[in-house]
Parts: sequence; C-alpha cells; structure tokens
Amino acid sequence: MEEKHFQIAIDGPAAAGKSTIAKRVAAKLGFTYVDTGAMYRAFTNAVIKRGLDPKSEAQAVTLIPGMDIDLLEDGRVICNGEDVTKVIREPLISGNVSYIAAMKPIRLALVDMQRAIAKKHSVVMDGRDIGTYVLPDADVKIFQTASVDTRAIRRYEENLSKGIKTSLEDVKNDLRMRDYIDSHRDFAPLRPASDSIMIDTSYLSIDQAVEAVLRSIRKKLGGNFQC
Ligand code: C5P
Repeated sequence: MEEKHFQIAIDGPAAAGKSTIAKRVAAKLGFTYVDTGAMYRAFTNAVIKRGLDPKSEAQAVTLIPGMDIDLLEDGRVICNGEDVTKVIREPLISGNVSYIAAMKPIRLALVDMQRAIAKKHSVVMDGRDIGTYVLPDADVKIFQTASVDTRAIRRYEENLSKGIKTSLEDVKNDLRMRDYIDSHRDFAPLRPASDSIMIDTSYLSIDQAVEAVLRSIRKKLGGNFQC
C-alpha cells in the first residue's frame, strides 16, 4: 500500500512570518518544509543574471527548459548548480519577483516541481496559492496574515540581521507593491482558500503563532499526530 503523505498549506501576504512558522511546524512534525517563494526568487535571479528583462514574459520563459531549483534540507537554495540562498533575498530580487510570479508558464513549471516534492514527502509548504491551486486537497490549510506595519518591521529587522541594507519605508512599499501584484494577477492569485483557517499573527510571538498552527493541525487531524 502506498504511504500516506500529509500536506499542510500555509499561504498569506509577504512577510507575514510564514516561513519562520512553517519551518518550525515542519520540524515539529518531521515533515519537509517547502519554501515556494524561494523558487520564484531563484527564477527571478536567473532572469536578471542573464541580463533578461523580468517584466518581459517572452524573455523570461526562455529559461524554463533546463531550469533546476533545489531546496536543500539545511535551507540552502541551489539554482542550476549555484548557491543563491543569500542573493535571492536582496531588494533587487524582492522588487522584481512578483512580475515573474505573474507569468503563467513560469508558475506552471514551478508548480510541477512543488507537486513532485509533495508526492514524495509529507510537506509543510508555504506560498500564495498552495491551498487554492498547488495542493487543493491539502489536509490543513492556513492563511496567515498580519498588519502591514507589523510585517514591515519584522522584515526590516530580518534584513538587518542578514546584512541587507534597506529603509523601513522601502520595505513597507515593497510589501505593499508585491501584495497588490500577487493578489491581482489573473492566474492563481494570492487569496485564502474557502476552507482556510485564518491566523492573524500581528499580536502573536513566534512561539504563539507556531502553537496556533499546531493547534489547528491537531484539531483537523486528531490522533494522527503527537505535536
Ligand atoms: O514568500 P516570498 O515573499 O519569498 O515570495 C516571493 C514572491 O514570490 C511573492 O511576492 C510572490 O510574488 C511569489 N510567490 C508566488 N506564489 C507562491 C510563492 C511566492 O507567487 N506560491
């Protein structure tokens, strides 16, 4: 009999703390964490590095054949053999990734990679369209939000700790712009699935947010997990 693989989908706007929480939840459950945003970022980096225009679908799609993106267990992101873990967090990538992510052929290629991972492993996958499009039958779907001010401060502090120089105002503008493009694109836009559990983390610590997600998982999946 085929082994059952569990799917936990965590969606929400930029910098809502999804990756921090998803990583911890995955560790607690012994599942694979899949950062789908890192895939769109790696693709964007490849486009820019080749001197192509990230707003031109005709140019960007030429990189689909042969595109190889690996999310390693230790968190490193490898794109066509190159370690891009750090560079994909730079403002140049954050400022262009939503244009690339709005291109349907690129989404279809990356969604194939995401579904292939979920076929082999139990996953906690975070992104924008996981519950609505990538894994519509996910066992648990979470939509994580926080006010734009909270998200901007969190991302600004995270950037500082990683040595990425940005102003708080620039971070806030970037989040607003990405959320707008992500939620207004035609194909697989950012929105909660009808069966999502909404969690607002504005006033929650990381531990409290992790606990809120685990509580939702326990409630939905009952005795399947000791978490
Ligand atoms: O999660 P993160 O903020 O790193 O994602 C970067 C960008 O990738 C998002 O702003 C969005 O444009 C795109 N994205 C997406 N669908 C996903 C994950 C990310 O469109 N499933």
